[in-house]
Amino acid sequence: MNPIQMVDLKSQYQKYKSEIDAAIAEVLETTTYINGPAVKLFQEKLEKYLSVNHVIPCANGTDALQIALMALGLKPGDEVILPAFTYVATAEVAALLGLTVVMTDVDPDTFNITAAHIEAAITDKTKAIVPVHLFGQCCDMEPILAIAKKHNLFVIEDNAQAIGADYSFSDGRKVKSGAMGTVGCTSFYPSKNLGAYGDGGAMYCNDEQLAAELRMIANHGQKRRYYHDMVGVNSRLDSIQAALLEVKLRHLDEFSTARHQAAVFYDRALSGIDGVKIPARQQNSTHVFHQYTLQVPADKRDALQEFLKEKGIPTMIYYPLPLNQQDAFMNCSRLASALPVTEQLCKSVVSLPMHSELDEEQLGYICGAVKAFFG
Ligand SMILES: *Cc1c(COP(=O)(O)O)cnc(C)c1O
Repeated sequence: MNPIQMVDLKSQYQKYKSEIDAAIAEVLETTTYINGPAVKLFQEKLEKYLSVNHVIPCANGTDALQIALMALGLKPGDEVILPAFTYVATAEVAALLGLTVVMTDVDPDTFNITAAHIEAAITDKTKAIVPVHLFGQCCDMEPILAIAKKHNLFVIEDNAQAIGADYSFSDGRKVKSGAMGTVGCTSFYPSKNLGAYGDGGAMYCNDEQLAAELRMIANHGQKRRYYHDMVGVNSRLDSIQAALLEVKLRHLDEFSTARHQAAVFYDRALSGIDGVKIPARQQNSTHVFHQYTLQVPADKRDALQEFLKEKGIPTMIYYPLPLNQQDAFMNCSRLASALPVTEQLCKSVVSLPMHSELDEEQLGYICGAVKAFFG
């Protein structure tokens, strides 16, 4: 059996090596390292894949979120609603811009923020909401978009973990995750579902004026070279990353299918174990399984991790400490309410190995070990 890893980037590379090497070699040959044709090509392919009018590549997912907040003209003191059960980047960029981070609880089954959480957190200072499509499936966006419309709020989708997922609206429309709100933000960090071999990110939207603003901010606040309309940042996706991402994008749906198959294997093997809760599916969304996350009794979690580690099975805790308990946010955030679900999840979640290259032998071994622990 091949060694089990949380994410197996090497086997995936070996599978597509000739395509990827050729794409990288072309950038090296043409020496167009920054803003070369590879970036434009990837941008166009991603626009097509997501069915959006505009993709603006940038340096990483955190920058994407920051530039989105900057482009929407939010001012210090404005409130941004987001879930406390997420990666730090979501809240960090809002705090950096002097915005007030308003943290909500999440749904105990899907781990996602819901319309009800958002509605309860709205004040007359609220300007934006950041639904995070956590672990690979969309938040229930139809009611979230309705609330945003009613209260005139921007919707910034943090789509770092769910690229490729589809959300179905009640009228039958299917829309890609990240393409439903005002602006979608994603990350191409190597372990993400569409991962580069370094850092990368992108923003996407349908509005032409907003796209121009996002592009300008990411490029030092200039539309014309050396003429700066506003204070921006330097945030670029480099051509080598774009070239290999374009190759990987062709295979993204295959990766999602492989991840889904691994998840179905886990579901079958691990459902019905006393005390173990397998991840629930969000109604109306497909799941691209950035993570496969179990909930287990809090007092057994450390022992489970240790037991699996001894058997050569890595696991991770996403996330061990809720954002509301992080020192960084003590003075720039407020809680919409108590966060019992988030606090409980941080004590009880454990993510199993999940990537596109897991085989049945590995999956069987992992499930056997989890069952042995609880049996
Ligand atoms: C990875 C991630 C980010 C940040 O992406 P980087 O490319 O690492 O900056 C933001 N939000 C979520 C939910 C993430 O998982």
